[in-house]
Amino acid sequence: MSFSRTSNAVRADSADALSMEELAAAIDIGRPDAFVQLGTAFLTRLPAVPVPDPYLVAVSADAAQRLGIDPALAREPAFAEFFAGNPTRDWPADQLPYATVYSGHQFGVWAGQLGDGRAIGLGEVEHNGERFELQLKGAGRTPYSRMGDGRAVLRSSIREFLCSEAMHHLGIPTTRALCVIGSDLPIRRETIETSAIVTRVSPSFVRFGHFEHFYSNDRVDELKALADHVIDRFYPQCREADDPYLALLSEVTLRTADLMADWQAVGFCHGVMNTDNMSILGLAIDYGPFGFMDGFNAHHVCNHSDTQGRYSYSRQPQVGYWNLFCLAQALVPLFGAQYPEEGRAERVIEDAQRVLEGFKTRFAPALESKMRAKLGLAETREGDDKLANALLEAMHANRADFTLTFRNLAKLSKTDASNDAPVRDLFLDRAAFDAWANDYRARLSHETQSDEARAAAMNRVNPKYVLRNHLAEQAIRQAREKDFSEVERLLRVLTHPFDEQPEFESYAGLPPDWASDLEVSCSS
Ligand code: AMP
Ligand code: MG
Repeated sequence: MSFSRTSNAVRADSADALSMEELAAAIDIGRPDAFVQLGTAFLTRLPAVPVPDPYLVAVSADAAQRLGIDPALAREPAFAEFFAGNPTRDWPADQLPYATVYSGHQFGVWAGQLGDGRAIGLGEVEHNGERFELQLKGAGRTPYSRMGDGRAVLRSSIREFLCSEAMHHLGIPTTRALCVIGSDLPIRRETIETSAIVTRVSPSFVRFGHFEHFYSNDRVDELKALADHVIDRFYPQCREADDPYLALLSEVTLRTADLMADWQAVGFCHGVMNTDNMSILGLAIDYGPFGFMDGFNAHHVCNHSDTQGRYSYSRQPQVGYWNLFCLAQALVPLFGAQYPEEGRAERVIEDAQRVLEGFKTRFAPALESKMRAKLGLAETREGDDKLANALLEAMHANRADFTLTFRNLAKLSKTDASNDAPVRDLFLDRAAFDAWANDYRARLSHETQSDEARAAAMNRVNPKYVLRNHLAEQAIRQAREKDFSEVERLLRVLTHPFDEQPEFESYAGLPPDWASDLEVSCSS
């Protein structure tokens, strides 16, 4: 077994088995350009709080390999101990993990200071020229825990783990998850549950809320240090611009717009799009009460606690824009250094508004092009957006299954209705579907590619397998009985969401009746 920060090879069969000490040593916390070097205004260094008798619930072999870790190492008890945050030795002071401070707007209201209330950073791993920060979520209380216990329950940890990896394999930018470690330590939520720790993996965990924190406290030096860190590490091209901080806002705006288009195109609802849950890298982050829609409802609210429907499916792009507005506000003190004092304030506001407008000019075409691909339209024609919207309207009216409708659309023939049934049967109002299918066929007649080529292209963008709530629920129910095989199986299925996997056909089906009253809340 081998773990190396520099070699490409992941050798599972090697005799020189890598010890956990070597893995621990490869996690570097002291890089001069690491977030942790920003210092005490940004974070508190502290150990994880140990849990009793940790055990492996799940590991992502793909994430492990990306980090240069042999997945077989996960079977060793020392792996579970390590990623539970149980120290195998006293942490030397300079190796102590860290919890970072941020603030944010929650449900549209300024919430003040928040911070990593149950997550700690371990440091970074470099492999194949990529650097990733590792973070333990659920590893105990921190100075930012407020009333919380610093823990996460098994249920929500499995959901976050599976969704992170599923998103990645859908090709959507996201933080990733290496493993879930469980412990029978009891955790009080609505009922007593058991605890778990997810190891999250990301180039950076910086959120919009980190910027809002220093802005709201009038700490411009720290605000600038944070922005410089993000630019130097992740957006070095911004240094070329007249105003590097405005350029940063622009980059984040474009990435966020792309992310919103990605979510809309797979029927994903995040559930808690607070500004502290928005990544400065445009990644999906903080999976709580998320959901992939089954029957399409444009106004679906996946978070049971979101009584106003602020974060409904149809509002996500708008909320992404609103959150960017908060980020822009926080960056204002850094903007416009190139302007003379006289008139600077006005010019800065104009600049920021112009950059934020970039969200709209990016998002709409990004989603249109995704929808065109989902419909299998290789060429661009006037009216394509209307055709896509008409389908979504009919799906909404019929609560047609989001994933199956698009996936099965690939089966339609462009000449006749003989193969319509797999989609048509998802619509209660068959006539409404037939009317749309007529228009669709008319549009397809302008396409030069064959039905086969179109179907193949559609199957590369319309997933067959998504993390439906009932699938996650089944895996969680078994995991509570200490049977983790379903989590593993589901991860395997979701690792290839666009492939036909005949042995897993049932994972692509409509949710069963028992799943109709599943509810997901903020409690995690
Ligand atoms: P979330 O809704 O998970 O994004 O969390 C919002 C804020 O509450 C963040 O500052 C979290 O760290 C904190 N938080 C959530 N749950 C807990 C918990 N059980 N213990 C401590 N802090 C928590
Ligand atoms: Mg959060």
